[in-house]
Amino acid sequence: QRRPSIEYTSRIGSTGGKIPLGLKRKGLRVVVTGGAGFVGSHLVDRLMERGDTVIVVDNFFTGSKENVMHHFGNPNFELIRHDVVEPILLEVDQIYHLACPASPVHYKFNPVKTIISFLKKKIEFCFCFCFCFWRWNVFGLLLLCVFFDSMCVYKTNVVGTLNMLGLAKRVGARFLLTSTSEVYGDPLQHPQVETYWGNVNPIGVRSCYDEGKRTAETLAMDYHRGANVEVRIARIFNTYGPRMCIDDGRVVSNFVAQALRKEPLTVYGDGKQTRSFQFVSDLVEGLMRLMEGEHVGPFNLGNPGEFTMLELAKVVQETIDPNANIEFRPNTEDDPHKRKPDITKAKELLGWEPKVSLRQGLPLMVKDFRQRVFGDLKEGSS
Ligand code: NAD
Ligand code: UDP
Ligand code: UDP
Repeated sequence: QRRPSIEYTSRIGSTGGKIPLGLKRKGLRVVVTGGAGFVGSHLVDRLMERGDTVIVVDNFFTGSKENVMHHFGNPNFELIRHDVVEPILLEVDQIYHLACPASPVHYKFNPVKTIISFLKKKIEFCFCFCFCFWRWNVFGLLLLCVFFDSMCVYKTNVVGTLNMLGLAKRVGARFLLTSTSEVYGDPLQHPQVETYWGNVNPIGVRSCYDEGKRTAETLAMDYHRGANVEVRIARIFNTYGPRMCIDDGRVVSNFVAQALRKEPLTVYGDGKQTRSFQFVSDLVEGLMRLMEGEHVGPFNLGNPGEFTMLELAKVVQETIDPNANIEFRPNTEDDPHKRKPDITKAKELLGWEPKVSLRQGLPLMVKDFRQRVFGDLKEGSS
């Protein structure tokens, strides 16, 4: 039995009609962590359209205010700068938990980010450092590690998810975790079905993300079984669309920005590795159906259309510039060789399947990138 979140809950009817005067609301109160990011901001748009009250919780590590600023001034919208690794008290009906950098470039080079966050925390740092010299022992080292680790992706995935699950438990909210196809690692089964347990390197450069999300799934299921939290788990496959960070290093954003800037498209390795690319509106539809539905999951949410990186480069050439050159670069460590979702389960239980093909979706993203890339260039030249 779920507890009502607060007395004036927006879930009309769940208070037996006793909604105090002036507090009646049209929709649900929904928190979207990571709502200022690429996927989150599109989700926020749909929730706002639906008439929900939306609270975005974001630390702006990879997201930005520009992605949600069109909602500023709307009384149904609130933006909170907050790091999910810290506890937070909110009263909500649903929690979409997206907060986590999704680009390998961002999550792999986390030590740099950690140092930067460290400088901001210099007082704590000085304390720990002195403590280590004063008492050079395991406790001192542990303390230092804790601070060095203060913003790492693994911690975001684990402590951040724990906090959001704690929040869901306290207020009786439904909780949706945006997990990833990366939980399958470098898969030995193709296409990937939800029952496949994966092939993940636990100590590699990608593990902070892969293993972090696997642990987040574990936590979600433990809170579901142990504390009756209503959880939903989505395993998202590569997604693209407007508002992606231009220089976040993901392949679609890289190729599009490179083609627009008349730079060579950088294909890593031999370009024969595959990915399946889904347009962001399809993903948002899938996430909302999952949240509203009755099934915990996990559900693969992705477009089964599979492309090698060379094929993707060709589609980008056709869409933007047929004369764009291709430049081969060494591949990155532990790069999965292939990835393609089996979406039978989502089709059957959520009635969901993607509608936008790569050739239809790419021009929509190019339009947005063109505005931002050439906007950037103008700013840079002035
Ligand atoms: P993104 O980097 O654009 O958005 C992530 C958002 O989370 C950003 O706004 C960032 O500032 C915020 N954030 C990061 N760490 C935070 C923290 N500690 N506290 C508060 N906010 C924090 O990424 P995205 O592509 O929008 O991905 C959203 C979610 O979907 C992520 O959880 C990601 O793992 C998952 N996902 C995305 C893809 C994809 O292809 N886009 C694929 C699989 C899974
Ligand atoms: N938490 C939170 N907001 C809440 C409730 C809990 O951020 O409204 C955090 C809390 O600080 C804790 C985590 O969620 O770190 C897990 O909470 P839970 O109650 O499950 O565990 P406990 O606090 O009993 O260890
Ligand atoms: N990739 C590439 N060129 C780039 C960026 C990435 O060929 O400029 C390759 C990368 O090696 C990987 C694939 O594209 O094989 C997808 O990479 P991305 O970082 O977009 O997503 P993920 O690896 O998380 O699936």
